[in-house]
Amino acid sequence: MNLEHYIDGTHVPSVSGETFTSLEPATNRPTLTVASGDAEDVDLAVRAALKAFTDGPWPRMPGERRAEVLRGIAAAIEARDERIAELECGDTGLPITQARGQARRAAQNFRFFADVITSLGEDVYRVGSAQLNYVVRKPVGVAGLITPWNTPFMLETWKLAPALAAGCPVVLKPAEWSPLSASLLPEIMEEGGLPTGVFNLVHGIGERAGAALVAHPDVPVISFTGETTTGQTIMRDAATGLKTLSMELGGKSPLLVFDDADLERALDAAVFGVFSLNGERCTASSRVLVQDTVYEEFVTRLAERAARVRVGPPHDLATELGALIHPEHYERVVSYVRAGVEEGARLVAGGGRPEGLPEGNFLAATVFADVTPAMRIFQEEIFGPVVCVTPFSTETEAVELANATRYGLAAYVWTSDLRRAHRLAQSVEAGMLWINSQNIRDLRTPFGGVKASGLGREGGRYSIDVYTEAHIVHVATEDLPIPRFGLG
Ligand code: NAD
Repeated sequence: MNLEHYIDGTHVPSVSGETFTSLEPATNRPTLTVASGDAEDVDLAVRAALKAFTDGPWPRMPGERRAEVLRGIAAAIEARDERIAELECGDTGLPITQARGQARRAAQNFRFFADVITSLGEDVYRVGSAQLNYVVRKPVGVAGLITPWNTPFMLETWKLAPALAAGCPVVLKPAEWSPLSASLLPEIMEEGGLPTGVFNLVHGIGERAGAALVAHPDVPVISFTGETTTGQTIMRDAATGLKTLSMELGGKSPLLVFDDADLERALDAAVFGVFSLNGERCTASSRVLVQDTVYEEFVTRLAERAARVRVGPPHDLATELGALIHPEHYERVVSYVRAGVEEGARLVAGGGRPEGLPEGNFLAATVFADVTPAMRIFQEEIFGPVVCVTPFSTETEAVELANATRYGLAAYVWTSDLRRAHRLAQSVEAGMLWINSQNIRDLRTPFGGVKASGLGREGGRYSIDVYTEAHIVHVATEDLPIPRFGLG
């Protein structure tokens, strides 16, 4: 299959004619030939989006009209959600049951932001009795959206929906390892009734197509989700243009288990939190910190559960853990397993290729115990089905360990002492913290991390803030005194 860019309502190859190949994770066989964009293609896409911004109806439409289109887009996604899930499952190695959930969430993203844009309150301030100040939110301009390969369709729509709701035309640059599901977006946008030129798609390699989008002078806002190091590069590149940036970056999120917790539920949460979505999840609970009084028991039970996680072909309905995205990523994850063993961590489950899966990027659910903060597997984001377990004795030590990495995306606390849970919510450095719960949240809440996990927040009106500028207007409703200068 061949994938092309979509610019100004037309499917086009790269100006250079260059392409790249995409592999199927379950077999590593090439399945797609994809147009490889660079600065020229990005420029054509930005010009189309800019024309839609300066001359087109989209930024000038009332929010209610845009919301109708967003709901049409949601319906178009729902009409083909099984196909989206199938494509995503084949292209990313995500188990089909989980890919279906992601496709449903993509439709929900559009319905949700349709509601957000129609329910935003107006900011009006009365100054004395004779002046009103009011705030007008205007779309910033062409939005550059750069997305990662994990749950690609869901994350693309998580940026597209608020950008479009705010009135910004977009240029989307999907990740090169998972370009397939994005190729459905043009027909979805057309079916939803989006005007031509508002949605543009440029495939390509990050350092070329992505970097060209960041550097383009007519793109005032970049919303990026990906690795922390890439985020740092983008910040440097965007500095010249003083661009608005939203940065959703990596994580190494702790799950803290105290001895007064419901251990069975904490175990369920730990297993699901790190092995769902193939462990390729920014909020994965990849460090489990356990109080020493229940440590050995918890390690044993976690290892037993991990050994029973069903690794298998992504399209198999019974599969819980599918194939990792790419052989390069697989090698990286496996190299962390080797590093864990070399650094002296105790491998208690997994660590290798499961039996019966000789090809493709399959790795057994892997558990390391006795991991210390000095080890690389404690500090670095592995982004795969590998969890590190570390003991602690006191609450103070638990907090120190939780905060002992450069990341600060999510945290999970398991304890029956609610006062302690709320103390931890204050002291653990994380943008999002769940108490006796797994990763469930209302889409209105601000999603994002602290420290090296990101800058800014997305979700609800926080996303709208990314794509709009607040302008203030002052209106005198009576003649106000004006100090009279220049009368000699
Ligand atoms: P990545 O940083 O390698 O790539 C992300 C995107 O950036 C891709 O589209 C890539 O082509 C592009 N890119 C690469 N170099 C670029 C450059 N110099 N200029 C512009 N664009 C460039 O990340 P990945 O490996 O695709 O995704 C995994 C990472 O994403 C993990 O670190 C994960 O934690 C993070 N992530 C974070 C969140 C969050 O919400 N915080 C969500 C999902 C994934």
